[in-house]
Amino acid sequence: METKDLYKILGIDKGASQDDIRRAYRKLARKHHPDANREDPKAEERFKEVQHAYDVLSDPAKRREYDEGPRTFFGAGASPGGSGGRVDANFSDLSDLFGSFGGVFGGAGRGQSPATRGEDVTVSVNLKFKDALEGVTTRIAAPVEEACERCGGTGAAAGTGRRMCPECSGRGIRSRDQGFFALSEPCRRCGGEGTIVEVPCAGCAGGGRVRKNRQVTVKVPAGAKDGMKIRIPSRGSAGSKGGPPGDLYVVTRVAEHPVFERRGNDFLVDVPVSFVEAALGAEIEAPRPGGGTVKLRLPAGTQDGKRFKVRGAGSPRTRGDGEPGDLVVRVGVVVPKKLTRREREILEALAEERDENVREGLLRTASEAEV
Ligand SMILES: [Zn+2]
Ligand SMILES: [Zn+2]
Repeated sequence: METKDLYKILGIDKGASQDDIRRAYRKLARKHHPDANREDPKAEERFKEVQHAYDVLSDPAKRREYDEGPRTFFGAGASPGGSGGRVDANFSDLSDLFGSFGGVFGGAGRGQSPATRGEDVTVSVNLKFKDALEGVTTRIAAPVEEACERCGGTGAAAGTGRRMCPECSGRGIRSRDQGFFALSEPCRRCGGEGTIVEVPCAGCAGGGRVRKNRQVTVKVPAGAKDGMKIRIPSRGSAGSKGGPPGDLYVVTRVAEHPVFERRGNDFLVDVPVSFVEAALGAEIEAPRPGGGTVKLRLPAGTQDGKRFKVRGAGSPRTRGDGEPGDLVVRVGVVVPKKLTRREREILEALAEERDENVREGLLRTASEAEV
């Protein structure tokens, strides 16, 4: 009969989430693991307690049963395959406890659970405007799951194998009665394999993988845009049970430039011109994204907001070896806030000479329009 509170064993409260439970278990399993506590004979007992608490609380159905009536739940037998606690038997050595399954289940599982590909992992890389424009090779740290070195990815502690899954009695599936139907679903405890590790590896708490920050070299192509995804094959998380690794995706985050605005493969730049330049026409200079300037002929009578395209003065294209992008120069006509005395005289003379009403069309349309 079990009297200890399973929540207390894991050091969590009753409202703990599945994640909390898993975290608490991993931490305690590592701490009390018999491998790591060879001098302490009580460690194994604590380890079994922790594992038992996890077995029950990590299974929503069992947890509910426990929450509702712990006594009836623990009254169940301890036979392997039964629903009861499996660790209250008094064995001095874990391998004695499970040794009888060694011959049958010592191998690599029953083959019901196929090799699983590792997850794709996405990380972002912050780039300076200039580096994105010219291309750069940089190092990033990618948080990925790697095969645990301690157990070689098997999840089993050194010298131990696998044993029959107590949840499904080794069948790998569980049947659920649903009124007329009996549904079969893969056993969640063993993932459909029919076996679980005998003693979890202390390095990975039985998962077979550990989280690492992998240093990866990324080659960012010249002209990289913000939000571009660079795929690095097979550099994501390691697969399980011999499955292939996932891919790594690096998403570019390009710093904004105070002057240039990226528009696809082109760049836009606002260039101020005086109202005299706009009226008479002029040769102006505009800055280029890669440095230096480009000369541009402004025709007489250029309107505010007019755009001019300078071919090839933008950025290198990111795909293929096509032409480089363009630089789009948007003209902003600047009206002087202050005039010198001479300027004022000239403009007043101009006003007398030119009797122009630039709003004539607007006023006529406004009064005549039938809407
Ligand atoms: Zn199972
Ligand atoms: Zn391991």
